[in-house]
Amino acid sequence: MTETMTVPLLDLKPQYQALKAELDAAMVKVAASQMFILGPAVRELEEQVAAYCGAKHGIGMSSGTDALLAALMALDIGRGDEVITTTYTFFATGGTIARLGARPVFLDIEPVTFNLSVERVREFLSGCVRQGDVVRNPATGGRVRALVPVHLFGQSADLDPLLAIASEYGLAVIEDAAQAIGAEYAHSRRLGGIGDIGCLSFFPTKNLGAFGDAGMCVTNDDALAARLRQLRVHGMEPRYYHAFVGGNFRLDEIQAAVLLVKFRHLEAWHAARQRNAAFYNRAFAAAGLTDRVQTPVAQPGCRHVYNQYVVRVPQRDELRVYLAGRRIGAEVYYPLPMHLQQCFADLGGRPGDCPEAERAARETLALPIYPELTEAQLQHVVDSIADFYCGA
Ligand SMILES: *Cc1c(COP(=O)(O)O)cnc(C)c1O
Repeated sequence: MTETMTVPLLDLKPQYQALKAELDAAMVKVAASQMFILGPAVRELEEQVAAYCGAKHGIGMSSGTDALLAALMALDIGRGDEVITTTYTFFATGGTIARLGARPVFLDIEPVTFNLSVERVREFLSGCVRQGDVVRNPATGGRVRALVPVHLFGQSADLDPLLAIASEYGLAVIEDAAQAIGAEYAHSRRLGGIGDIGCLSFFPTKNLGAFGDAGMCVTNDDALAARLRQLRVHGMEPRYYHAFVGGNFRLDEIQAAVLLVKFRHLEAWHAARQRNAAFYNRAFAAAGLTDRVQTPVAQPGCRHVYNQYVVRVPQRDELRVYLAGRRIGAEVYYPLPMHLQQCFADLGGRPGDCPEAERAARETLALPIYPELTEAQLQHVVDSIADFYCGA
């Protein structure tokens, strides 16, 4: 039986099969209306997702990347500015900062959560010079404007100390919650609605995935919400009058219609991912593998939604090849931290600058965690990893 079992890293087909009638009807309804741009489904989704994130406003965006770009633009971040973020993230976090001409300051992570290190942020800022309201990086002359914590893999960054530091230095906080819709920080605070602007992605592999690209900004700030709405239509207000330069960052009506159907199931999918994570944790312990496989540690009081279930393992690359041979999908998120990417070479990052992120890049492996996995499939993953380390 297990000889023929396949465990893909992610399979979206069972989710579609389960909701096919509703999803197809929702798409046909948009087709019948021929209202493709900023229609009723976008408005409805914005309201539902904002409420879910504990935020006053939701502004649908064309992707998570464009949500980040628009958030930075809404805060007027550009040339001469610096934005602090984590080096261990998906490219979009740093890429959007750089695209606006600002300088990303890539800092190291906490080894247990893989999220931005509070200590490194404090250390960087204590080396900056304050001139009135301006915080200047003496090494570059740049003005430090904002902090972008990423809630990696579906778990909150340590927000309270980061928010305190941001407030002390007058920095804006943009939460990159692309992987963490529905996750919570201490005291049941939903991510995205805690900082000045939260950025969500509905890329198909995220916990709430569209049929293509989609994203959203959430905020409690009326002025920022108005600015984000205007930015997503080329800065236009009123029609054909442009007070500032924006872009086409609009969320498609057809994607919103799909997302409204799926959104009703999001809590059940989070619960299934958490069940799968708990199964892995127990099964790795039962197999006596805890010295080899370091399982993810959910922070006390925080709600982890397991967009990815990421373990640390010795011989990571060999294990990945071995699992592929057993038709088990596994992926490396991420093999090269941002400070070592070729496109950021001009920032002067060097190996050894962020040792924890560099170590994570060598040791981590994401295992299949999607909601529809069976216990037999999960057990097969654990058994195969046991075979790899202990000899089949
Ligand atoms: C997915 C992701 C993004 C970008 O979202 P897209 O919708 O793919 O543009 C940004 N940041 C992180 C951490 C992500 O995982």
